[in-house]
Amino acid sequence: MATDSIDLWRQLKSHLESLRRAGLLDIPIGSWEPPALIKPIRTQPSQSENLIDLSPVVAAVLRPPEAPRIEVVQKPAEPVSRPSTAPAKRPPSAAQPPVPSTFALYRKPFEMHVIPINERLQVLTSLAAEVACCERCPELASTRTQTVFQSGSPTARLMFVGEAPGADEDRLGEPFVGRAGQLVTDIITKGMGLSRSEVYIANVLKCRPPENRTPSNTEMANCVGYLDRQIEIVRPEFICLLGKVAVTALLQTSLPMKSLRQRWFRYREIPTMVTYHPAYLLYNPPAKKETWDDLKMLMKEMGISPPPKAS
Ligand code: SF4
Repeated sequence: MATDSIDLWRQLKSHLESLRRAGLLDIPIGSWEPPALIKPIRTQPSQSENLIDLSPVVAAVLRPPEAPRIEVVQKPAEPVSRPSTAPAKRPPSAAQPPVPSTFALYRKPFEMHVIPINERLQVLTSLAAEVACCERCPELASTRTQTVFQSGSPTARLMFVGEAPGADEDRLGEPFVGRAGQLVTDIITKGMGLSRSEVYIANVLKCRPPENRTPSNTEMANCVGYLDRQIEIVRPEFICLLGKVAVTALLQTSLPMKSLRQRWFRYREIPTMVTYHPAYLLYNPPAKKETWDDLKMLMKEMGISPPPKAS
C-alpha cells in the first residue's frame, strides 16, 4: 500500500515538474518528498500521522492555467518588434533568491571577434575541458557521472538551449539523448528537415541535478557563463530556448511561457525565441501543436521549409 502511494506520489511529482518546465507552474517542486510515507509504521499511529499533506499539489493542479502567477525577477526580456508589456515589479519569490543580475551584461553584443570556423572546435574543446573540472556547485560536482557540454556543429545557424542533463545524458555525456532527446531529434529531422549534426545543442547546466530536481538560481548563475561562452564561440544566427529554465537563465524573466511564445527576443543581439521543453510534450501531447506553430515561426525566419510530410 505504501509502495503504491509512493509510486503515485512520484508520478504526480514528475507530471507537475513537466508543467513547471513548461512555465505553467511557478512553485518549487524538486524538494517535495513524501515524509509521511517513509515514516516507520507504529502500532497505533495517530490519524494525523498517516495523512499526506497534498495541499501544495492540489493547489498547483487546481490553479487555472488562464491566470498564472506572474512575477518579474529582474529586468523583463524585451521583445524585438514591440515595446515590453511586463507588469509592474513584485517582490521576488520567497522560494529562491533571485538570479544575480547578469542580464545587463548579456544584453550587450559580444566583444570578442568572431572565431574563424576552422578554430571553433578547438576552442570549444578547451572550454569543455575547463567545464569538466568545474566544481562551482559542490552537490552537482560530487554526484555527476560527467559533465555534459554540447552536441552538434560549432558552425550551426541554430542553437537549441535546454535545462540540464538527465540520467541518460549524465551516463552518455551528450545532451538530449533520452526520451525527451528523441523528441528533439524528431523536431529537428522530421519537423525541420535538418539533422542533429547541423544544429548546436547545449544546456544551461552542464551537470545533472540529483533526482532531476529543478536547478537552483545559484546553480544557474554559476553555470550560465559557460553557455554564454558557447554562444559567443558558435555565434548562431538563431537561438531556440526550450522551457522555463533556459528562459530564466538567458532572458531573466519569469513571465509564463504562453506569454513568451510566438515572439522574438534578442540575446546578445541574436534573435531568440521560446518554446516548450520536450519533457513537457511527453506528458502533454496536445502541446505539440503549439510547439509546431513555434517551429514554423522559426523556420520562416530562417528561410527554410519543413519536409513535405511535416507540413
Ligand atoms: S553545473 Fe556548471 S557551474 Fe555547476 S559544477 Fe557543473 S559545470 Fe560547474
